Amino acid sequence: MAVNVIKEKCKGCSICVKNCPFDAITMEGKLAVIGTACTSCGVCVEKCPFMAIEKTEEIKEVKDLSAYKGVWVFAEQRRGEIMPVAIELLGEGKKLAAEIGCELCAVLCGNEVSGLVSELFEYGADKVYLAEAPELEQYTTDGYGKVIFEAINEFKPEIVLLGATHIGRDLGPILAVKANTGLTADCTRLEIDPEDKKIRQTRPAFGGNLMATIVCPNHRPQMSTVRPGVMAKAERIPGRTGETVELKTDFLDGDIRTRVLDVVRSVKEMIAISDAEIIVSGGMGLGKAEGFDLLKQLADKLGGVVAGSRAAVDAGWIDHAYQVGQTGTTVKPKIYIACGISGAIQHVAGMQGSEQIIAINTNENAPIFEVADYGIVGDLYKVIPSIINALN
Ligand code: FAD
Ligand code: SF4
Ligand code: SF4
Repeated sequence: MAVNVIKEKCKGCSICVKNCPFDAITMEGKLAVIGTACTSCGVCVEKCPFMAIEKTEEIKEVKDLSAYKGVWVFAEQRRGEIMPVAIELLGEGKKLAAEIGCELCAVLCGNEVSGLVSELFEYGADKVYLAEAPELEQYTTDGYGKVIFEAINEFKPEIVLLGATHIGRDLGPILAVKANTGLTADCTRLEIDPEDKKIRQTRPAFGGNLMATIVCPNHRPQMSTVRPGVMAKAERIPGRTGETVELKTDFLDGDIRTRVLDVVRSVKEMIAISDAEIIVSGGMGLGKAEGFDLLKQLADKLGGVVAGSRAAVDAGWIDHAYQVGQTGTTVKPKIYIACGISGAIQHVAGMQGSEQIIAINTNENAPIFEVADYGIVGDLYKVIPSIINALN
């Protein structure tokens, strides 16, 4: 729907200008003109005393959706290593491509990264679009955005998946805007509608209290970012090969508006709770920051790492880099020990994929026991020392 001023009827009274809540109308002499800020709310149609503004059907550009084929995965690499989430997306992308009946492609950008192409084939890519240039040595929104958007324009993928990493969360939206399509961020489930073969993208909404399934019916590609650790990794088939397509990487002065002067790796970046096999996680039940020292003793005994709930992070007891949950990291360790964590839905969303969950909580009705394989009702300050003693 759009609105349109009927020139012959407009008397130039400017009532519409004062009533437009979006300041979208200006007067050009005696004629009201609707600008780009118009949201088609329709207020002016009602307010014009001369019925000089009408609602009209917007003529939408109809895209030929059938020209778009294939599932693309952004093969994010850092310092020459494929990020685990890209391998997870190749696993998921393979399933989607099989259901649609199309090929799975990986998009790899960087400088001197062609050595990673064979790895991508082994993880299931049928084709790898490769962009190599000194300008792509470090990730920049402009550099990666230009090269990948031009590839999308030329090769027209049906679906583009990116990891919801810092880079993916930056790159996904810029590509979606350039391609004039939608993007569903932070998906936790992807599936193909058996009827129309469109992708159904599910993500938590309203603070995680319900799951929303989103479709992108009229634009292509259909784009999603997926949080690391949510999907299962693709199986590696040694020796599997495919086709490499080299992408254009011509940069003009000013194409890349930022320069990376230095990359400083923080200690936090090196903590990979998403890769840990054993996690001892603490919540408000610890009562104080020092409680994490006890958890650390247990984690060290077991060869694991510590993590925490958001409440513990908000209390300043542990850094956000260790937060498990919807707004933290999704983890899937072999053993997850939740100590003094109530089991709020937003926390459970980030750890329910753990192979074995052990919960220690004083409240036998705590929701964490609903997802736990083993539950210990008791004070963690008594339970954990006795576990450490037993291990000793
Ligand atoms: P509490 O809910 O206060 O639970 C403390 C538990 O400790 C209780 O069950 C209590 O019985 C037990 N306890 C007390 N003393 C002892 C003791 N001595 N020994 C053993 N047990 C004891 N939370 C996350 O964790 N991760 C997220 O990513 C996240 N994202 C969120 C996003 C949004 C949009 C919102 C709205 C919330 C989010 N939350 C998240 C917060 C979440 O809703 C909960 O508030 C939080 O997980 C509660 O943390 P907790 O279990 O440590 O604390
Ligand atoms: Fe013209 Fe109607 Fe706006 Fe008056 S309110 S300026 S008549 S469009
Ligand atoms: Fe303003 Fe709404 Fe009229 Fe658009 S439709 S010009 S936003 S009042």
